[in-house]
Amino acid sequence: MLHSSYIEISKSALQNNINFLKSEVGASVKLSSVIKGNAYGHGIELFAPLAQECGIDHFSVFSADEAHRLLQTIKMPATVMIMGYLDNPELEWAIQHDIEFFVFELDRLIEAAAIAKRLGKRAKVHLELETGMNRTGFDKAALEHAESILEGCQEQIELIGICTHFAGAESLQNHERVQKQLQLYEQQLNRLQNGGYHPKQRHTACSAAMVSYPETRMDMVRVGIMQYGFWPSPEIYSHYISQHDDKKDPLRRLINWKCRIMSLKSVPQGEYIGYGTSFQAPRDMVLAVVPVGYAWGYSRALSNQGQVLIKGLRAAVVGTVNMNVMMVDVTNIPDVQKDDEVVLLGTQGDESITVASFGELSTQLNYELLTRLPVNIPRYIID
Ligand SMILES: *Cc1c(COP(=O)(O)O)cnc(C)c1O
Repeated sequence: MLHSSYIEISKSALQNNINFLKSEVGASVKLSSVIKGNAYGHGIELFAPLAQECGIDHFSVFSADEAHRLLQTIKMPATVMIMGYLDNPELEWAIQHDIEFFVFELDRLIEAAAIAKRLGKRAKVHLELETGMNRTGFDKAALEHAESILEGCQEQIELIGICTHFAGAESLQNHERVQKQLQLYEQQLNRLQNGGYHPKQRHTACSAAMVSYPETRMDMVRVGIMQYGFWPSPEIYSHYISQHDDKKDPLRRLINWKCRIMSLKSVPQGEYIGYGTSFQAPRDMVLAVVPVGYAWGYSRALSNQGQVLIKGLRAAVVGTVNMNVMMVDVTNIPDVQKDDEVVLLGTQGDESITVASFGELSTQLNYELLTRLPVNIPRYIID
């Protein structure tokens, strides 16, 4: 094996999740597959074509570079929508390639219209509204300006969508804030509609909003984390399960992260293990050296905390996670051999290591741990 670890992505799990999401929202709501953050660590180049095979034809990315990568790997026809970073030099490229993009500043709108005029091609725009996240989006005053700009350049700007993003729909603690955002969105949308603008896509929902606030689904949902088989938060999962008779998790995780035991070592009682003195062997121990460390996204916060699977059993990380290796306790696992498979994330036999259990331990969210999986770990498709 050239690389010290590798990632498997399950196609049948993705198909399962996409089928579930589509049945949740129904045929009249478009499902946009959010693949920012290197497809939440799954790898854009591997994930996007697979998602297409599973029935996805609309993708949301954060930035122009992700849109570039996407265009090189997917089959047309497909819609690509940039939700965030798009610098002026890339604006022309985006318009030329029919890439849709969020506009949240007047300058961007004016610039897009000018480029579109020069190219003789309409820019496909989603107006983002500020409703309370206080990140990007037009507030009420700016929206009035935007309308007057739009009025003058109907030939150049095709208004595809009106959108906003909720500030923390994954926690019911933010219930009131989300409700307020929704109200504000509707007020501003009404104003626009009264002004004669009827964009075909009204969209506001991420995964959490889609589950907890069905009224936010509108014409399209932008779903990231759930297509990869993870719930946005334990709260959202409980909320879903409480409303369904079937208590089984409808999602399946796509990702397995694996490596092999690099070396085995016997350590007598009383010895310290690894750098420093954070772990002293309480008895004679057998350790497996695992060739993954924090340089590979395995957080140092998992020192003396994390667990991996070997021969279908849990083995605890002992001592600190190093840059490229860590030690795990295999004293109680029978017949362990060098080169045995180690599962860092995913399932082996009847046991699984979930990102959630990881996440709780290392106080990282699912999102953060996944997106920190380095781009250069090889990824393979499995059934
Ligand atoms: C990331 C993102 C989403 C998707 O969020 P999930 O919680 O992963 O479903 C939707 N909309 C915007 C604007 C985003 O940035």
